[in-house]
Amino acid sequence: MLYKSKESKNMNQANNNKIFQDITDVYEFIKDKQIVTDSRSLIAVPSEAVFFAFKGKHADGNQFVEEMYAKGVRAFVTNLESSNFQHLEGLWVRVPHTLTALQELATFHRLQFPHLEVIGITGSNGKTMVKEWLSQLLQGKFSLVKSPKSYNSQLGVPLSIWQIKAHHQIGIFEAGISKPAEMVKLAQIIQPTLGIFTNIGTAHDEGFHSRQEKIREKLQLFQHSRLIIYCNNYEDITQEILKSKPTYQTLTWGRKANAHIQILNTERHANRQTLSIQYHFQNHLSQEKSGNYLLSLPFTDMASVENAMHCVAMLLYLGYDLAEIQSLIYQQFVGKNKALPMRLELKKGIHQCTLIDDTYTNDLQALSVALDFMNQQRQKQTFGQSLKHKTLILSDILHTNMASENVYQQVARMLQSNAISKLIGIGQDIRTLAVFQEETKDIEKYFYSDTEEFIQDFLQGRIHFQNEQILIKGARKFQFDRITAYLQEKVHGTRLEINLDALVHNLKFYKSLLKPQTKVMVMVKAFAYGSGSAEVASVLQYQNVDYLAVAYTDEGVHLRENGIRLPIMVMNPSEETFDKIIQYRLEPEIYSFRLLKQFLNYAKMAQINMATPLPIHLKLDTGMRRLGFEVMEIEEVGKILSQHTALKVASIFTHLAGADEERHNTFSLQQLTNFQKVANGLENLLGYHFIKHALNSAGITRWADYQMDMVRLGIGLYGVEANGFLQQHLQNVTTLKTTISQIKNIKKGETVGYGRRWEAQQDSKIGTIAIGYADGYDRRFSNGLGKVFVKGKLAPIIGSVCMDMSMIDLTGIDVEEGEEVIVFGKEVSVIDLAKSINTIPYELFTGIGERVKRVFFTE
Ligand SMILES: *Cc1c(COP(=O)(O)O)cnc(C)c1O
Repeated sequence: MLYKSKESKNMNQANNNKIFQDITDVYEFIKDKQIVTDSRSLIAVPSEAVFFAFKGKHADGNQFVEEMYAKGVRAFVTNLESSNFQHLEGLWVRVPHTLTALQELATFHRLQFPHLEVIGITGSNGKTMVKEWLSQLLQGKFSLVKSPKSYNSQLGVPLSIWQIKAHHQIGIFEAGISKPAEMVKLAQIIQPTLGIFTNIGTAHDEGFHSRQEKIREKLQLFQHSRLIIYCNNYEDITQEILKSKPTYQTLTWGRKANAHIQILNTERHANRQTLSIQYHFQNHLSQEKSGNYLLSLPFTDMASVENAMHCVAMLLYLGYDLAEIQSLIYQQFVGKNKALPMRLELKKGIHQCTLIDDTYTNDLQALSVALDFMNQQRQKQTFGQSLKHKTLILSDILHTNMASENVYQQVARMLQSNAISKLIGIGQDIRTLAVFQEETKDIEKYFYSDTEEFIQDFLQGRIHFQNEQILIKGARKFQFDRITAYLQEKVHGTRLEINLDALVHNLKFYKSLLKPQTKVMVMVKAFAYGSGSAEVASVLQYQNVDYLAVAYTDEGVHLRENGIRLPIMVMNPSEETFDKIIQYRLEPEIYSFRLLKQFLNYAKMAQINMATPLPIHLKLDTGMRRLGFEVMEIEEVGKILSQHTALKVASIFTHLAGADEERHNTFSLQQLTNFQKVANGLENLLGYHFIKHALNSAGITRWADYQMDMVRLGIGLYGVEANGFLQQHLQNVTTLKTTISQIKNIKKGETVGYGRRWEAQQDSKIGTIAIGYADGYDRRFSNGLGKVFVKGKLAPIIGSVCMDMSMIDLTGIDVEEGEEVIVFGKEVSVIDLAKSINTIPYELFTGIGERVKRVFFTE
């Protein structure tokens, strides 16, 4: 097939009427562009888009070419009959059939990623659900790409495949067909390595002679796959798979005895069901796995259970264990969906205890899920901490159709097999049943007839908890939330509360301003702007951001030691820390020839045991005049790097000096365009693609056209919109709180604090609060510049801020000692506070002292 083009007259004349020899030629031209097939779609950057004009039943895409051109699109693929757009300049590819061309391009794109694990999903129902759920469940561990919505057709599939990028680890794509011979094409484009066949229904039967034919056609998707997953309750799917003499391995689930994952029994409840499972299969590492498990699924309808089981089977194959899967399902469907009245919360308890709080329901299944969850948490704790004893506070079990004896016998068995060492039983049944007493005789036990009785014992010190893992599991009517309130650690004094939901909200807001393909690097330097880097990074990892950045190597090491797997850039790496950079898979920023040479020498030494080049990030100084190579120096950098394959450029970036101010627009634009020129030049010189990025938070909101491949989000994530004009879209993340240690009444004319700098103009009530400049409460807040929020009112600082304390004027406020005070947060804006002492929120955030406790919460 010949691809012809007519290029802009203003572009290279020699290229005019260029003949593309084949698909790879065209691919080179459009591989980084957004493909647009519908003139109504949102186009991120028109100059970076390519429009495919399709001739369909209802519309002819050629009619929209001029419209797209007017929008700024400059690359087009049309069919041969399309009119000659002589008067329009751009890249024109004319092909006999546009859809075929798109499919071929997508196939070629897929071939660029031979190591990508690709899950193909087909079947009559549930494809989209299974794809969505699977991606939710897998996203904590893998970088994923999936079909948008239900893009599963001859057109949707190539568009989905087009999104694959080098950093992806797993692709999940669905394929749907309505007539014979369609699947072969989709199979070629997707090339799934693993497959899920959901089920076969009657939809689209018209196109096929029989169900069998339809199944055979769909199975074409998996011709070259390693494995497929299906439910072997479906007789005709099973038959067709056997008949086709598959070269792939199968992993089946269902009721039949020969299923790899056999469902022995199902118990239904009002809002979920529990499957008793027996399994025996080989996972992706060819390890044999077998055992039994009680799996609780928060659905009652068969379709959801079927969708979920396909996902469970895939996760098992990929190496997850069932306890892990159960916990993911819990987080996914129960934790987030407040409508489902089941939840497990992890809390910090008194005396080094941890609490697992589930004070809503209590029946056998809910108890078994909670005990699993407890084991799961326990594994996480073993790192660095001594293993805690397991304690269970349990109310009567609610049951309707089983004899009490049987119920408590089962409970006793669960306690034994989960190695519970202490039991507190609350309720009449649990207290009195002899059989229960008998079967739990090895366990330390305490019984109470109601919650109040237990609380009294606890308050009077007759029962004590220390370094235990406590599961609090009670039916609602027992009001175990009162117990939780007593056992939860109360953080007194000065603390910084970090609202993780607000943080996620802010992340999503900034993502909504980005093109779908733009990556996000989040700056977690300086202890994540004072908020606590490991905790914030965990949330970001769960939210699938692409990169993290820290200032120093040790900050990166700290993140790795806390289970952060995301790529991490270190902005100021020093030579002594190169060992750690390598050991902890950190990626250094290289900003000078001195650093480049040091790292090259180091890499050459270390390379002995290393198969792949080390990633580096080049910093370019385009006007900040801080760190970075000069624009003139980059060519030399390129020459050095092309001679040394030990290092590979992962990204190049620059930093704007005045992104947040209109008056620097000309300067910023100059920085951005200079940067792009230099970055593109380097890419040409080195002959490979790398990430280019320039924008910080302020830049993201003001320079949308310069997002390039990635942006670097900082202060915005923490709730401050540096430009000020989008502040209303962000939520407050951090709240600095303290308490009033003492209240005094003083007489008119008395003075307060060092240097006697404040004098009472009237008889006054004053309070001393437990925060001073050693906690990061700036001394410039002295004498009225700082205000705190007490009982709904603002109280000004009086006198000088001391090292550990400050005094406030409480005159006219009805308040007692011990009352909580908000230093900044939603009620006292950190932005206004910063302004009042002529600084910026960054300084206030990062200045918060180490001794101030960080408390993280979700709402
Ligand atoms: C800190 C930092 C950022 C983030 O800046 P914000 O203004 O907080 O968004 C981006 N890039 C670099 C190089 C930085 O040092």
